[in-house]
Amino acid sequence: MADAAQRARELRELIRYHNHRYYVLDDPEVTDAEYDALMRELIALEEAHPELADPDSPSRRVGGEVSTSFEPVVHELPMLSLDNVFNDDLLRAFDARVRRATGLGSVEYVAEPKIDGLAISLTYQHRRLSVGATRGDGERGENVTANLRTIRSIPLVLPDHAPESLTVRGEVYMRKPDFARLNEEREERGEAVFANPRNAAAGSLRQQDPRVTALRKLDAFFYYLPMSEQLDANTHWEALESMRNLGFRVNDKITLCSDIEQVIAFIREIAEMRKSLPYEIDGAVVKVNRFDLQRDLGFTSRSPRWATAYKYPAEQAETTVRDIVVKVGRTGVLTPTAEFEPADVGGVTVSRASLHNQDYVRGKDIRIGDRVIIQRAGDVIPEVVRVLTERRTGREQEFVMPAACPECGSEVAREAGEAATRCVNLSCPARIREGLIHFASRDAMNIDGLGPSTVERLLAAGLVHDVADIYSLTREQLEGLERMGEKSAANLAAAIDKSRTNPLYRVIFALGIRHVGENVAKLLAGYFGSMDALASATHADLLEVPTVGAAIADSVVAFFESEGNRAAILRLADAGVRMADEAPARSEAPGIDRSEFEGRTFVFTGTLERFTRQRAQEMVELLGGHASSSVSRKTDYVVAGEDAGSKLTRARELGVTVLSEQDFVDMLDHAGW
Ligand code: NAD
Repeated sequence: MADAAQRARELRELIRYHNHRYYVLDDPEVTDAEYDALMRELIALEEAHPELADPDSPSRRVGGEVSTSFEPVVHELPMLSLDNVFNDDLLRAFDARVRRATGLGSVEYVAEPKIDGLAISLTYQHRRLSVGATRGDGERGENVTANLRTIRSIPLVLPDHAPESLTVRGEVYMRKPDFARLNEEREERGEAVFANPRNAAAGSLRQQDPRVTALRKLDAFFYYLPMSEQLDANTHWEALESMRNLGFRVNDKITLCSDIEQVIAFIREIAEMRKSLPYEIDGAVVKVNRFDLQRDLGFTSRSPRWATAYKYPAEQAETTVRDIVVKVGRTGVLTPTAEFEPADVGGVTVSRASLHNQDYVRGKDIRIGDRVIIQRAGDVIPEVVRVLTERRTGREQEFVMPAACPECGSEVAREAGEAATRCVNLSCPARIREGLIHFASRDAMNIDGLGPSTVERLLAAGLVHDVADIYSLTREQLEGLERMGEKSAANLAAAIDKSRTNPLYRVIFALGIRHVGENVAKLLAGYFGSMDALASATHADLLEVPTVGAAIADSVVAFFESEGNRAAILRLADAGVRMADEAPARSEAPGIDRSEFEGRTFVFTGTLERFTRQRAQEMVELLGGHASSSVSRKTDYVVAGEDAGSKLTRARELGVTVLSEQDFVDMLDHAGW
């Protein structure tokens, strides 16, 4: 008994510690499976020794906390966690409990993918988003409205048929490719990488500066209407349909099932799709469909009794670290990479994983020859979970970061406060190679056929030295390359040619300016409209661009100050690469959502801080709206700056929606401008 009490105390303390790392710091130390094992042990112990019961035990509470860096929001109805089941039999047992409690022979369920992100609650007043909050400790969450406003799939204004007040809940998440790219960028910058898409989403949403959130592509799905009377729904299925009609993104895989066997079939189907879904799921959620039954079943202090989560087992494998090699990236960062004995992790062969930097290797104490447990973070990125130190033989070798660049032999340096070690040679062949690969890549200039191996061959043949050389390659030169047939040479030449007409943002992104990812490139292209205008922008000009901060402004200015970079851009322009966007084409660029502007009439009044009135009007027109100078019944929005006068009064008399300048900026952000 004393042992049990002691162990329960230990487990509670450990779980609280891991909760803090996971929910508050967004930086877990152990895997979910390890955490789940601790929780299961605690629950089993508490069940076997009812005298140990404690209402404050983490087994009875929602795990999160409310960080003091945000304003707290009290949830009108608590935001709870979900109970877990791990196999079909446990799911059938859940169904049996539901049927017993409701007295029904069979119960209808809604089965949904369990999106691996973080739960949020949105409240709309007068059809406008008023508060968005995280789950927090379940009773109180954090006010992250400004950050949520930057997510495009979150409607800021609801259509006229929406009720006056509405609360919906859903999940903010990061798509797998965006997660992979974010971690790559962080690694290049020498910052700590996120363990999985959930932590990346939580870390990105819980930022002090909404501009940082805006740069991290987040998305959201909605799956719950806590106050069903608001949409007059009798079932969860109806509520989802109504939410969809109001413009909320509802996952299209969600299925209505007439009994638990259909739910089990759904779980099987979704498990098969899991790898190909663009977002990470960690299981399925099963909810009783009828709201009256949900009310009868009720809640425990931690979770609803009418729902449960089916968790997929973690996919891990054991293997050996054969070697740790060092790769040099586009910005000269040296990245240690573990090479494994190839191992199967959930159907995918994994033979290497990035070890990010020297501190990471030390922190995990990974040595050459070690037996390790590996997994794929967020189902995409292979990583070392931990070293099986008990299996060491004494022959393992510690990794040491080389003192010279493995590609060019130049000196390497590690700046104070940075985790990354960099090669100082700006013309290091590895930098040039990686820069070319990036330039041609799909999200940049999208030159099909110009992947890593072709780049290597072009460099080896001495045909290219920098990105501008790509455009002077002839078909004959391409045909002369090893393993390049006539047909592929022709295709590659055509792809190179086609890339000349790419929109400006692709060219900006392709240049590989530090901190300028695809999103920032779109913002810069949209704002400046031409490479010339961007190149001559001052630090202060750049800060005017919504969501651009000092770090980006610094690196853009530094990039264009370099003689070499300017010369390369001139040569690209001479080669016919488009360096300016036609204004209307710009607003049709991919990722621009015109729906909140199209056909709407805007009137600007008062002094705007961030735009001239002319520029604001121009943007409205480019997005398909009209800018007018007088307020009438036909006006949709009046944007009121400082010292707005009679137009504002008139707008109020006519009941026209009045926006602040910030509201207008939010609308632009939302449109992806
Ligand atoms: P949970 O993740 O098991 O389930 C509840 C959550 O599921 C909801 O809050 C919501 O965010 C999400 N969800 C996704 N899709 C949903 C849908 N369609 N309908 C409803 N909800 C949906 O519970 P939790 O309390 O958020 O977290 C517990 C889990 O977190 C643990 O099982 C563990 O895996 C992990 N965790 C890990 C650590 C660690 O240190 N590694 C620490 C704490 C928690």
